[in-house]
Amino acid sequence: MSLVIYNTLSREKEAFAPLDAGHVRLYVCGPTVYDYVHIGNARPVVVFDTLYRLLKRTYPRVTYVRNITDIDDRIIVRAADNGESIEALTNRTADAYQSDMRRLGALAPDVEPRATQYVAEMIGMIQRLVDNGHAYAADGHVLFSVPSMDDYGRLSRRSRDELIAGARVEVAPYKKDPADFVLWKPSTDAQPGWASPWSRGRPGWHIECSAMSARHLGETFDIHAGGLDLIFPHHENEIAQSRSAFGHPFMATYWMHNGFLNISGEKMSKSLGNFFTVHELLDQFPGEAIRLLLLSAHYRQPLDFTHEGLTQAKATLDRWYGALRGKDARPSSVVPQSVEDALNDDLNTPQAITAIHQLADPAELRAGANALGLLQQDAEAWFRWTPADSSGPSEADIDAAIAARQAARKAKDFKESDRIRDDLKAKGVILEDGPKGTTWKRG
Ligand code: AMP
Ligand code: ZN
Repeated sequence: MSLVIYNTLSREKEAFAPLDAGHVRLYVCGPTVYDYVHIGNARPVVVFDTLYRLLKRTYPRVTYVRNITDIDDRIIVRAADNGESIEALTNRTADAYQSDMRRLGALAPDVEPRATQYVAEMIGMIQRLVDNGHAYAADGHVLFSVPSMDDYGRLSRRSRDELIAGARVEVAPYKKDPADFVLWKPSTDAQPGWASPWSRGRPGWHIECSAMSARHLGETFDIHAGGLDLIFPHHENEIAQSRSAFGHPFMATYWMHNGFLNISGEKMSKSLGNFFTVHELLDQFPGEAIRLLLLSAHYRQPLDFTHEGLTQAKATLDRWYGALRGKDARPSSVVPQSVEDALNDDLNTPQAITAIHQLADPAELRAGANALGLLQQDAEAWFRWTPADSSGPSEADIDAAIAARQAARKAKDFKESDRIRDDLKAKGVILEDGPKGTTWKRG
């Protein structure tokens, strides 16, 4: 079975046919870096990392671009609140993001462009839009002229009234049409700004992704992805900008959107305050457990976040790693067909997980789980994981106790060796004696 993708543009599942079968190109909208990301923000990262892995297995070359938005009014405000420079804030936050996503098993994208490095490209693109009549300058701003594009709104399928209401447009005297959106805006002296033909200012959010995707993937490319909330206005406006600037009938051929991670039925979001950061959850659960939870529902379905769900995901991984323990379980060279078929069907990860449960052979289990970015570590390392606030003995303490017990057994002091074992058990560490020596896990 070959890859089928649900395309938001057509609202249908379509066979995936890359523009160039020798080089598949994927763009995923990344975070705005002003604070730790929450686990909802990690859903697109983990989902589209799973897609990236699948594409890499299927095609000879894949370029995956995931941007970092380091120009944004929330960044300006937060840096001022913290009393630090914008650069210090965005560098620190971007580093934390990359490290947290790595701990969720996400591969680094091929390119991770930061918006501040592409302002010249954005100005160039805005100039093209002004020159060809799709944008106009007013009061130091540049606006995209929505009426200049016949089929604006195709992705989100909104009526003109909905577009205007949804754009949540501030009444601005310089706008010719209420649906027009900002490509460039002036900065005050206190705000970061770049010289441009229109004002010392800064780019709007949407133009960042149009410029960075064009620079690294070309004027048209295969897949553009992100969360459901990006369909409108962000992706609609990216399409308007890129198509109008370059004159192609499409920007990307496939548009993929993940559903929301909810908490008690409500979208997890910073503004509602109902969020857990990935950073704090990684103190309490292994990254792979968080990843498995995020893949346990189909990516287009809502997924309710609970700590109970994370505990269950960890228990599943305990079982899988348990099956690999003490075995030579290098992954088989090909992903088991049942897992690959599920993933090829619009990334049906719950089906893939069901298929993994049925794999009895350790090498196949490892290969099937690897396709989802799971079972990436040594089984012993998995069982040695401890929560950050654990009051139990450290790894070094445990290793020392095992060595002492070994010595006692060698000296046939079984009373002492049993005492050491029982003492560890009381502290939540379970020893298992096997043919290759003693292994341990936290119980
Ligand atoms: P933002 O920094 O708000 O632009 O979000 C970064 C990415 O996370 C975007 O792809 C959003 O669509 C996605 N996202 C934000 N909140 C959630 C959520 N609760 N569930 C799933 N995805 C989300
Ligand atoms: Zn974007």
